[in-house]
Amino acid sequence: MDLLIQQLQEVLPKERILTAEPLAAHTTFRIGGPADYFCEIESAEELQEAVRIAIDSDTPWFILGRGSNLLVSDEGYRGLILHLGRGWEQVRVDDDMITAQSGVSLSALGRIALEHSLDGFSFAAGIPGSLGGAVYMNAGAYGGEMKDILVSALVMEPDGNCFVLSNEEMELGYRESIFQHRDWIILEATLRLRKGDPEKIDAEMKDLMQRRVSKQPLEFPSAGSVFKRPQGYFAGGLIEEAGLKGHQIGGAQISEKHAGFIINAGGATAQDVVDLVRYTQDVVWRMSGVRLEPELKILKDECLIRL
Ligand SMILES: Cc1cc2nc3c(=O)[nH]c(=O)nc-3n(C[C@H](O)[C@H](O)[C@H](O)COP(=O)(O)OP(=O)(O)OC[C@H]3O[C@@H](n4cnc5c(N)ncnc54)[C@H](O)[C@@H]3O)c2cc1C
Repeated sequence: MDLLIQQLQEVLPKERILTAEPLAAHTTFRIGGPADYFCEIESAEELQEAVRIAIDSDTPWFILGRGSNLLVSDEGYRGLILHLGRGWEQVRVDDDMITAQSGVSLSALGRIALEHSLDGFSFAAGIPGSLGGAVYMNAGAYGGEMKDILVSALVMEPDGNCFVLSNEEMELGYRESIFQHRDWIILEATLRLRKGDPEKIDAEMKDLMQRRVSKQPLEFPSAGSVFKRPQGYFAGGLIEEAGLKGHQIGGAQISEKHAGFIINAGGATAQDVVDLVRYTQDVVWRMSGVRLEPELKILKDECLIRL
Protein backbone atom coordinates (compact mmCIF):
# COMPACT_ATOMS: atom_id res chain seq x y z
CA MET A 1 0.00 0.00 0.00
CA ASP A 2 0.99 3.59 -0.71
CA LEU A 3 3.08 4.97 2.21
CA LEU A 4 1.04 8.19 2.39
CA ILE A 5 -2.19 6.21 2.77
CA GLN A 6 -0.61 4.04 5.46
CA GLN A 7 0.41 7.14 7.40
CA LEU A 8 -2.99 8.81 6.96
CA GLN A 9 -4.69 5.66 8.23
CA GLU A 10 -2.84 6.08 11.50
CA VAL A 11 -4.62 9.39 12.13
CA LEU A 12 -7.90 9.13 10.19
CA PRO A 13 -10.55 6.44 9.75
CA LYS A 14 -10.09 4.52 6.47
CA GLU A 15 -13.46 5.57 5.09
CA ARG A 16 -12.45 9.24 5.19
CA ILE A 17 -9.34 8.69 3.05
CA LEU A 18 -10.16 8.56 -0.64
CA THR A 19 -7.94 8.18 -3.71
CA ALA A 20 -8.56 9.39 -7.26
CA GLU A 21 -11.58 11.31 -5.94
CA PRO A 22 -13.30 13.30 -8.73
CA LEU A 23 -13.26 16.95 -7.69
CA ALA A 24 -16.20 17.72 -9.99
CA ALA A 25 -18.28 16.24 -7.16
CA HIS A 26 -16.92 18.84 -4.72
CA THR A 27 -17.20 22.06 -6.74
CA THR A 28 -20.33 24.05 -7.59
CA PHE A 29 -19.07 24.25 -11.20
CA ARG A 30 -19.31 20.43 -11.33
CA ILE A 31 -15.94 20.49 -13.10
CA GLY A 32 -12.58 19.03 -12.09
CA GLY A 33 -10.50 15.88 -12.50
CA PRO A 34 -9.40 13.53 -9.73
CA ALA A 35 -7.42 14.40 -6.62
CA ASP A 36 -4.73 11.81 -5.94
CA TYR A 37 -5.73 11.88 -2.24
CA PHE A 38 -8.81 13.37 -0.59
CA CYS A 39 -9.50 13.40 3.16
CA GLU A 40 -12.56 14.44 5.11
CA ILE A 41 -11.14 16.27 8.12
CA GLU A 42 -13.22 16.50 11.29
CA SER A 43 -10.98 18.06 13.93
CA ALA A 44 -8.01 20.37 14.36
CA GLU A 45 -5.91 17.41 15.55
CA GLU A 46 -6.69 15.45 12.37
CA LEU A 47 -5.89 18.50 10.28
CA GLN A 48 -2.57 19.06 12.02
CA GLU A 49 -1.55 15.41 11.56
CA ALA A 50 -2.67 15.26 7.91
CA VAL A 51 -0.74 18.44 7.03
CA ARG A 52 2.35 17.11 8.85
CA ILE A 53 2.18 13.84 6.90
CA ALA A 54 1.78 15.74 3.62
CA ILE A 55 4.75 18.02 4.35
CA ASP A 56 6.99 15.16 5.53
CA SER A 57 6.30 13.28 2.30
CA ASP A 58 6.62 16.35 0.05
CA THR A 59 3.00 15.98 -1.01
CA PRO A 60 1.21 19.21 -2.01
CA TRP A 61 -1.92 19.87 0.07
CA PHE A 62 -4.93 22.13 -0.41
CA ILE A 63 -7.82 23.20 1.83
CA LEU A 64 -11.27 22.81 0.29
CA GLY A 65 -14.40 24.43 1.66
CA ARG A 66 -17.64 24.20 -0.33
CA GLY A 67 -15.86 24.55 -3.67
CA SER A 68 -18.04 27.49 -4.71
CA ASN A 69 -15.24 29.78 -5.87
CA LEU A 70 -13.03 27.14 -7.41
CA LEU A 71 -12.23 25.84 -10.88
CA VAL A 72 -10.22 22.60 -10.77
CA SER A 73 -8.30 21.55 -13.88
CA ASP A 74 -9.44 18.59 -15.93
CA GLU A 75 -6.28 16.72 -14.93
CA GLY A 76 -7.22 17.12 -11.27
CA TYR A 77 -4.86 17.64 -8.37
CA ARG A 78 -1.55 15.86 -7.76
CA GLY A 79 -1.65 16.03 -4.01
CA LEU A 80 -3.85 15.82 -0.91
CA ILE A 81 -7.15 17.68 -0.66
CA LEU A 82 -8.21 18.38 2.92
CA HIS A 83 -11.95 18.96 3.02
CA LEU A 84 -13.27 20.89 6.00
CA GLY A 85 -16.94 19.98 5.78
CA ARG A 86 -19.13 17.79 7.96
CA GLY A 87 -17.77 17.57 11.49
CA TRP A 88 -16.34 21.04 11.16
CA GLU A 89 -19.51 22.95 11.81
CA GLN A 90 -19.76 23.86 15.48
CA VAL A 91 -21.31 27.23 16.27
CA ARG A 92 -21.46 29.17 19.56
CA VAL A 93 -23.63 32.23 20.07
CA ASP A 94 -22.74 34.60 22.86
CA ASP A 95 -24.95 37.69 23.03
CA ASP A 96 -24.26 39.53 19.73
CA MET A 97 -21.21 37.41 18.83
CA ILE A 98 -21.13 34.19 16.82
CA THR A 99 -18.07 31.95 16.83
CA ALA A 100 -18.17 29.18 14.25
CA GLN A 101 -15.87 26.55 12.82
CA SER A 102 -14.81 27.26 9.27
CA GLY A 103 -16.74 24.39 7.63
CA VAL A 104 -20.15 25.78 8.56
CA SER A 105 -22.11 27.05 5.57
CA LEU A 106 -23.07 30.71 5.32
CA SER A 107 -26.70 29.68 4.84
CA ALA A 108 -26.64 27.75 8.15
CA LEU A 109 -25.05 30.75 9.84
CA GLY A 110 -27.80 32.93 8.39
CA ARG A 111 -30.45 30.69 9.96
CA ILE A 112 -28.64 30.80 13.32
CA ALA A 113 -28.32 34.60 13.19
CA LEU A 114 -32.05 34.84 12.51
CA GLU A 115 -32.95 32.42 15.32
CA HIS A 116 -31.01 34.67 17.71
CA SER A 117 -32.46 37.91 16.27
CA LEU A 118 -29.00 38.97 15.11
CA ASP A 119 -28.86 41.49 12.32
CA GLY A 120 -25.99 42.26 9.91
CA PHE A 121 -25.52 38.84 8.30
CA SER A 122 -28.25 39.00 5.64
CA PHE A 123 -25.82 40.02 2.86
CA ALA A 124 -23.92 36.73 3.31
CA ALA A 125 -26.72 34.25 3.95
CA GLY A 126 -27.29 33.50 0.23
CA ILE A 127 -23.62 33.01 -0.66
CA PRO A 128 -23.11 29.26 -1.18
CA GLY A 129 -19.74 29.01 0.58
CA SER A 130 -18.32 28.00 3.95
CA LEU A 131 -17.28 30.45 6.65
CA GLY A 132 -13.60 29.61 6.00
CA GLY A 133 -13.96 30.29 2.27
CA ALA A 134 -15.82 33.53 3.00
CA VAL A 135 -13.06 34.79 5.30
CA TYR A 136 -10.36 33.78 2.79
CA MET A 137 -12.22 35.65 0.01
CA ASN A 138 -13.62 38.45 2.17
CA ALA A 139 -16.89 37.50 0.49
CA GLY A 140 -19.48 40.19 0.09
CA ALA A 141 -22.74 41.16 -1.56
CA TYR A 142 -25.44 43.83 -1.51
CA GLY A 143 -23.24 46.43 0.16
CA GLY A 144 -21.87 44.17 2.90
CA GLU A 145 -18.66 42.16 3.24
CA MET A 146 -17.15 39.82 5.81
CA LYS A 147 -14.77 42.60 6.85
CA ASP A 148 -17.76 44.49 8.34
CA ILE A 149 -18.63 41.72 10.81
CA LEU A 150 -15.42 39.79 11.45
CA VAL A 151 -13.86 40.25 14.87
CA SER A 152 -11.13 37.62 14.69
CA ALA A 153 -10.10 34.26 13.27
CA LEU A 154 -8.35 31.29 14.82
CA VAL A 155 -5.67 30.22 12.39
CA MET A 156 -3.27 27.28 12.07
CA GLU A 157 0.14 27.37 10.45
CA PRO A 158 1.31 24.24 8.58
CA ASP A 159 3.55 23.31 11.55
CA GLY A 160 0.45 23.12 13.78
CA ASN A 161 1.06 26.41 15.58
CA CYS A 162 -2.27 28.17 16.21
CA PHE A 163 -2.88 31.86 16.77
CA VAL A 164 -5.64 34.45 16.65
CA LEU A 165 -5.73 37.21 14.04
CA SER A 166 -7.76 40.36 14.54
CA ASN A 167 -9.89 41.91 11.80
CA GLU A 168 -7.13 44.42 10.97
CA GLU A 169 -4.47 41.71 10.91
CA MET A 170 -6.47 39.80 8.29
CA GLU A 171 -5.77 42.64 5.79
CA LEU A 172 -9.24 42.38 4.33
CA GLY A 173 -9.88 44.25 1.09
CA TYR A 174 -12.15 43.81 -1.89
CA ARG A 175 -12.16 39.98 -2.30
CA GLU A 176 -8.75 40.01 -0.65
CA SER A 177 -7.27 38.78 2.60
CA ILE A 178 -3.89 37.90 4.02
CA PHE A 179 -4.87 34.22 3.70
CA GLN A 180 -4.49 34.46 -0.09
CA HIS A 181 -0.79 35.12 0.43
CA ARG A 182 0.00 32.61 3.21
CA ASP A 183 -0.43 28.87 3.71
CA TRP A 184 -2.45 29.40 6.89
CA ILE A 185 -5.65 27.49 7.61
CA ILE A 186 -8.67 29.24 9.08
CA LEU A 187 -10.03 27.01 11.86
CA GLU A 188 -12.81 29.23 13.17
CA ALA A 189 -13.98 32.83 13.06
CA THR A 190 -15.84 35.17 15.38
CA LEU A 191 -18.40 37.61 14.03
CA ARG A 192 -20.03 40.54 15.77
CA LEU A 193 -23.62 41.22 14.72
CA ARG A 194 -26.26 43.40 16.39
CA LYS A 195 -29.58 42.68 18.04
CA GLY A 196 -32.46 43.32 15.67
CA ASP A 197 -36.07 42.60 14.87
CA PRO A 198 -36.38 38.97 13.65
CA GLU A 199 -39.25 39.80 11.31
CA LYS A 200 -37.21 42.49 9.59
CA ILE A 201 -34.13 40.26 9.41
CA ASP A 202 -36.21 37.43 7.93
CA ALA A 203 -37.79 39.78 5.38
CA GLU A 204 -34.38 41.15 4.35
CA MET A 205 -32.87 37.66 3.94
CA LYS A 206 -35.83 36.57 1.83
CA ASP A 207 -35.64 39.74 -0.28
CA LEU A 208 -31.93 39.28 -0.99
CA MET A 209 -32.45 35.58 -1.78
CA GLN A 210 -35.25 36.52 -4.17
CA ARG A 211 -32.92 39.02 -5.88
CA ARG A 212 -30.35 36.25 -6.35
CA VAL A 213 -32.95 33.89 -7.80
CA SER A 214 -34.22 36.51 -10.25
CA LYS A 215 -30.81 37.89 -11.35
CA GLN A 216 -28.44 34.91 -11.17
CA PRO A 217 -28.41 31.71 -13.26
CA LEU A 218 -28.80 29.49 -10.20
CA GLU A 219 -30.32 26.74 -12.32
CA PHE A 220 -26.86 26.02 -13.82
CA PRO A 221 -23.62 24.97 -12.13
CA SER A 222 -21.23 27.92 -11.78
CA ALA A 223 -18.81 29.55 -9.35
CA GLY A 224 -20.70 32.83 -9.11
CA SER A 225 -19.20 36.03 -10.53
CA VAL A 226 -16.05 35.11 -12.39
CA PHE A 227 -14.40 38.53 -12.39
CA LYS A 228 -13.73 41.13 -9.72
CA ARG A 229 -15.50 44.45 -10.11
CA PRO A 230 -13.06 46.76 -11.92
CA GLN A 231 -12.90 50.20 -10.34
CA GLY A 232 -15.66 52.40 -11.75
CA TYR A 233 -17.31 49.59 -13.74
CA PHE A 234 -19.31 46.39 -13.40
CA ALA A 235 -17.71 43.33 -14.96
CA GLY A 236 -21.12 42.04 -16.11
CA GLY A 237 -21.92 45.37 -17.79
CA LEU A 238 -18.61 45.47 -19.68
CA ILE A 239 -19.04 41.87 -20.83
CA GLU A 240 -22.58 42.56 -21.99
CA GLU A 241 -21.50 45.74 -23.83
CA ALA A 242 -18.80 43.69 -25.55
CA GLY A 243 -21.61 41.54 -26.99
CA LEU A 244 -20.49 38.41 -25.16
CA LYS A 245 -23.73 37.43 -23.40
CA GLY A 246 -24.47 33.84 -24.35
CA HIS A 247 -21.01 33.35 -25.93
CA GLN A 248 -20.03 29.72 -25.57
CA ILE A 249 -16.80 27.74 -25.76
CA GLY A 250 -17.40 24.01 -25.49
CA GLY A 251 -19.79 23.58 -22.56
CA ALA A 252 -18.86 26.87 -20.87
CA GLN A 253 -21.14 29.81 -21.54
CA ILE A 254 -21.38 33.46 -20.50
CA SER A 255 -24.76 33.43 -18.83
CA GLU A 256 -27.65 34.99 -20.77
CA LYS A 257 -29.16 35.95 -17.41
CA HIS A 258 -26.09 37.58 -15.80
CA ALA A 259 -23.03 38.28 -17.97
CA GLY A 260 -20.76 38.24 -14.90
CA PHE A 261 -21.35 34.49 -14.52
CA ILE A 262 -19.84 31.70 -16.59
CA ILE A 263 -22.07 28.66 -16.38
CA ASN A 264 -21.48 25.01 -17.06
CA ALA A 265 -24.17 24.67 -19.72
CA GLY A 266 -23.51 20.92 -19.93
CA GLY A 267 -20.31 18.90 -20.09
CA ALA A 268 -18.01 21.93 -19.71
CA THR A 269 -14.35 21.17 -19.12
CA ALA A 270 -12.04 23.35 -17.04
CA GLN A 271 -10.20 24.16 -20.28
CA ASP A 272 -13.48 25.45 -21.80
CA VAL A 273 -13.88 27.79 -18.81
CA VAL A 274 -10.24 28.94 -18.93
CA ASP A 275 -10.51 29.59 -22.69
CA LEU A 276 -13.73 31.56 -22.16
CA VAL A 277 -12.19 33.59 -19.30
CA ARG A 278 -9.19 34.48 -21.52
CA TYR A 279 -11.39 35.28 -24.52
CA THR A 280 -13.60 37.52 -22.39
CA GLN A 281 -10.56 39.31 -20.96
CA ASP A 282 -9.19 39.91 -24.50
CA VAL A 283 -12.46 41.17 -25.98
CA VAL A 284 -13.27 43.45 -23.03
CA TRP A 285 -9.71 44.83 -23.07
CA ARG A 286 -9.97 45.60 -26.79
CA MET A 287 -13.45 47.13 -26.52
CA SER A 288 -13.11 49.15 -23.32
CA GLY A 289 -9.48 49.13 -22.23
CA VAL A 290 -10.42 47.55 -18.90
CA ARG A 291 -8.50 44.55 -17.62
CA LEU A 292 -10.79 42.00 -15.99
CA GLU A 293 -9.21 40.12 -13.11
CA PRO A 294 -10.70 36.78 -12.11
CA GLU A 295 -12.22 36.47 -8.64
CA LEU A 296 -12.45 32.72 -9.25
CA LYS A 297 -9.59 30.60 -7.88
CA ILE A 298 -8.09 28.17 -10.39
CA LEU A 299 -6.41 25.02 -9.12
CA LYS A 300 -4.11 23.42 -11.68
CA ASP A 301 -1.56 20.65 -11.16
CA GLU A 302 -0.30 21.45 -7.66
CA CYS A 303 -1.19 25.08 -7.06
CA LEU A 304 -3.50 28.03 -7.66
CA ILE A 305 -2.75 29.81 -10.92
CA ARG A 306 -3.56 33.31 -12.18
CA LEU A 307 -5.15 34.20 -15.51
C1 LIG B 1 -24.20 30.92 -7.30
C2 LIG B 1 -23.04 31.57 -6.59
C3 LIG B 1 -23.20 32.83 -6.04
C4 LIG B 1 -22.13 33.46 -5.39
N1 LIG B 1 -22.32 34.69 -4.86
C5 LIG B 1 -21.29 35.30 -4.24
C6 LIG B 1 -21.47 36.60 -3.67
O1 LIG B 1 -22.55 37.19 -3.71
N2 LIG B 1 -20.39 37.18 -3.06
C7 LIG B 1 -19.18 36.55 -2.98
O2 LIG B 1 -18.25 37.12 -2.41
N3 LIG B 1 -18.99 35.30 -3.50
C8 LIG B 1 -20.02 34.68 -4.11
N4 LIG B 1 -19.83 33.43 -4.64
C9 LIG B 1 -18.48 32.79 -4.58
C10 LIG B 1 -18.25 31.89 -3.34
O3 LIG B 1 -19.47 31.36 -2.84
C11 LIG B 1 -17.50 32.64 -2.23
O4 LIG B 1 -16.25 33.10 -2.68
C12 LIG B 1 -17.28 31.75 -0.98
O5 LIG B 1 -16.80 32.55 0.05
C13 LIG B 1 -16.29 30.61 -1.21
O6 LIG B 1 -16.36 29.73 -0.10
P1 LIG B 1 -16.07 28.16 -0.26
O7 LIG B 1 -16.20 27.51 1.06
O8 LIG B 1 -16.90 27.59 -1.33
O9 LIG B 1 -14.55 28.21 -0.70
P2 LIG B 1 -13.80 27.24 -1.73
O10 LIG B 1 -14.31 27.52 -3.11
O11 LIG B 1 -13.85 25.84 -1.25
O12 LIG B 1 -12.32 27.79 -1.61
C14 LIG B 1 -12.00 29.09 -2.06
C15 LIG B 1 -10.59 29.42 -1.55
O13 LIG B 1 -10.66 29.54 -0.12
C16 LIG B 1 -9.69 28.70 0.48
N5 LIG B 1 -10.24 28.21 1.76
C17 LIG B 1 -11.47 27.69 1.98
N6 LIG B 1 -11.63 27.37 3.28
C18 LIG B 1 -10.46 27.71 3.90
C19 LIG B 1 -9.99 27.64 5.24
N7 LIG B 1 -10.74 27.13 6.24
N8 LIG B 1 -8.72 28.06 5.51
C20 LIG B 1 -7.94 28.57 4.53
N9 LIG B 1 -8.33 28.66 3.23
C21 LIG B 1 -9.59 28.25 2.93
C22 LIG B 1 -9.47 27.56 -0.52
O14 LIG B 1 -8.20 26.96 -0.33
C23 LIG B 1 -9.58 28.31 -1.83
O15 LIG B 1 -8.34 28.89 -2.20
C24 LIG B 1 -20.88 32.79 -5.29
C25 LIG B 1 -20.74 31.50 -5.82
C26 LIG B 1 -21.80 30.89 -6.47
C27 LIG B 1 -21.64 29.50 -7.01
